[in-house]
Amino acid sequence: MLVDIEITRRDKAYEWVLQWMTAHYQSQLAGPSRGAARHSRIESLIRRFTPGLHHLQIKTARINLPDGSQHTRFSLVPGQGKHIFRYKNAFIAVNRERITKSFDTNGEPFESVTLTTLYAHRHVFEELFQEAHALSVQNMEGKTVVYTSKMAEWLQSGQPKRKRPFDSVVLEEGLSGKILKDVREFLNARNWYLDRGIPYRRGYLLFGPPGTGKTSFVQALAGELDFSIAMLSLSERGLTDDRLNHLLTNVPPRTLVLLEDADAAFSNRRQADSDGYNGPTVTFSGLLNALDGVASAEERIIFMTTNHIDRLDEALIRPGRVDMTVRLGEATEWQMEQMWDRFYADADPEKTRKALFMEKARQTGLMGSVSTAALQGLFLYNKDDAEGAIAMLDQLASQQRAS
Ligand code: ADP
Repeated sequence: MLVDIEITRRDKAYEWVLQWMTAHYQSQLAGPSRGAARHSRIESLIRRFTPGLHHLQIKTARINLPDGSQHTRFSLVPGQGKHIFRYKNAFIAVNRERITKSFDTNGEPFESVTLTTLYAHRHVFEELFQEAHALSVQNMEGKTVVYTSKMAEWLQSGQPKRKRPFDSVVLEEGLSGKILKDVREFLNARNWYLDRGIPYRRGYLLFGPPGTGKTSFVQALAGELDFSIAMLSLSERGLTDDRLNHLLTNVPPRTLVLLEDADAAFSNRRQADSDGYNGPTVTFSGLLNALDGVASAEERIIFMTTNHIDRLDEALIRPGRVDMTVRLGEATEWQMEQMWDRFYADADPEKTRKALFMEKARQTGLMGSVSTAALQGLFLYNKDDAEGAIAMLDQLASQQRAS
């Protein structure tokens, strides 16, 4: 009288359950030896697991810390084969199988995990899955999942990243709020669209010179809305119309799509590019088809970015393709002040140095001509040194003139 549950790798629960098992083992082992050195903990994990687990697999996660350093974390997850563990008085047999002859669309072998327990203990599965789900939600809190494309699928790229605070990207006065409001209104208008048979989608085009916050804004917006983000550059080599179409019809739920370099689809791609590449790329009609593609009941929000608005075709700016076009430009006086405050508000409460900074920015001709990225670079370089930032304005201005 056994019950079993099979979870294939394509199912979201697959990762949760493996992670949960690791955490479950670790919590059983924590206890008196908790403070032991990390490597001996791994050794003891292996020793303790061996009676029940025949194969362990090491999973290495590399985490980029905000200061630029990297932290590597190892965890052991049940490897291929059969294992037994105990959970709330029930014994659960685990079989992690890899069917090497069968491949998914990414060319990866098909994998599944099967959990088996006695029929009398079947209720533990429900608790186990709830715990596994709660753990994954907890790991995700305050984070943004980033998807990138692999072949025709969206795959999560690395560990979820810490959310970028919405106000850390400083756009022209009122602009961030305006876009956020528009997206929120769209999200609240689902029934309005569906009742009228209008595809429930909205497109935004952000254009302007490099380093004005186009990409960062979309990332911050995803964080603010608690959405994931799926990023793809239209200039990516080997991206065909079919692949783009497939990707846009299979966007994971609650995900903002960010299509960068939208102009790539409009350039004359017949000729090889400067590196001699003349393989497949996305075409203009391919992009329009993908944007107009099959509608679903789920919202679809696409942000496109470009540094070259002049290369785009008017046919792109149609409701449902691009509903809102926004220019992000060089730092205005207001943006400069905001960014100054973000870095030096505490160190300069009287704002005397801020006044000096703004005055010098005017004199050196930087006002309205320097990118927000360059400004952020200046402030980062002089992180705790407001005087240093003022002094360095001359250098920034001569760099600007030279470029
Ligand atoms: P773009 O997509 O317009 O080329 P990015 O978003 O990639 O620009 O910005 C490049 C870098 O400059 C990022 O580190 C980002 O944090 C910073 N940056 C650019 N614009 C802004 C802005 N308006 N506010 C805050 N940071 C910005």
